[in-house]
Amino acid sequence: MLIRRILIIFWLSSCVQAVAQSKLKTENVILITFDGLRWQELFNGADSSLMKQQPYLKDSKLREKYWHADAVERRKLLLPFFWNTLVSKGQIYGNRALGSKVNVSNRMWFSYPGYNELLTGRADDERINSNDKTYNPNTTVLEFLNSQPSFKGRVAAFTSWDCFPYIINDKRSGVFVSSGIVPASGAKLTECEVVLNEVMSATPNPLGDVRLDAFTFYLGMEYIKKNKPRVMYFAFDETDDFAHGGEYAAYLNAAHYTDRFIGELWNYLQSDAQYKDKTTIIITTDHGRGTDAENWKHHGIKIPEADQIWMAVIGPDTKPLGEVKVSAQLFQKQVAKTVAAFLGLEFKVEGDSTGPVQSMIGSR
Ligand SMILES: [Zn+2]
Repeated sequence: MLIRRILIIFWLSSCVQAVAQSKLKTENVILITFDGLRWQELFNGADSSLMKQQPYLKDSKLREKYWHADAVERRKLLLPFFWNTLVSKGQIYGNRALGSKVNVSNRMWFSYPGYNELLTGRADDERINSNDKTYNPNTTVLEFLNSQPSFKGRVAAFTSWDCFPYIINDKRSGVFVSSGIVPASGAKLTECEVVLNEVMSATPNPLGDVRLDAFTFYLGMEYIKKNKPRVMYFAFDETDDFAHGGEYAAYLNAAHYTDRFIGELWNYLQSDAQYKDKTTIIITTDHGRGTDAENWKHHGIKIPEADQIWMAVIGPDTKPLGEVKVSAQLFQKQVAKTVAAFLGLEFKVEGDSTGPVQSMIGSR
């Protein structure tokens, strides 16, 4: 009898241990998108033939900054955080030359349908088939998380494109969305917010109603430091706008600055008790672009290969697999489920059977 009791106690304690071990370390998730950054530049760095395309925004230092004959060295020059820090600690999917395929599943291949798919976990070609500013009828993972008691009021989005209040449906979801050329507001602005507001209001903006990414990032960082959200979404834009304008120099610079922002964010997270070793960052894009001297500027269903995208992840629960070689086909719609899964929650999506990207979540 005694032996049986000891065995039961032993069995119970091993069960508790198993549960404890399977618990994820991630308590916060930061999702980041570069609008329309091609996998070709992510994995191969600057394209020498396209570097000549700088009709308006000229950059005489372009080759000096981003060119190296070896593609592995070249991509480090363009995206140093990705190819020094992230590749050694996290995972990067989508290098089709190595057999890693990531695609959108919507049949639109442009922005709102892409953001809808990645945030709501399902393509909706019936209803989301334009970039019009219409409130999204679908529920994003941000809205789902904001409805959970432990995340309520702790989910925020800082986005350059002023369509995001509609995509995230800020009215219905209650998610805080700072978007477009809107200054920081509130009773207690930090010194940095005051300066950012002043500079933003006096900076010429070639992007119309789209906020320059530096303002989106630094205003977002102030928000993080003040409010300590558990879920944060940064949606950067410049890569797409400059590509549409045929400004390859500005497109490369935008990708480079965004990589730097992510590096600064990563360093901040490591210095803060709420975030250090408890935060996962997922990075991806809303669509790809074409491949030749003209089509790289464009995307949409008529542009071959504009459905090809990429994903990256870094955090305490992610095995450091680096640049993933052969992998299962991944889809954009898995991002929403992966964000929830890192936080120990299941984001169920009606009419879609794909789950989170499990290889990102496996314990270290
Ligand atoms: Zn886009």
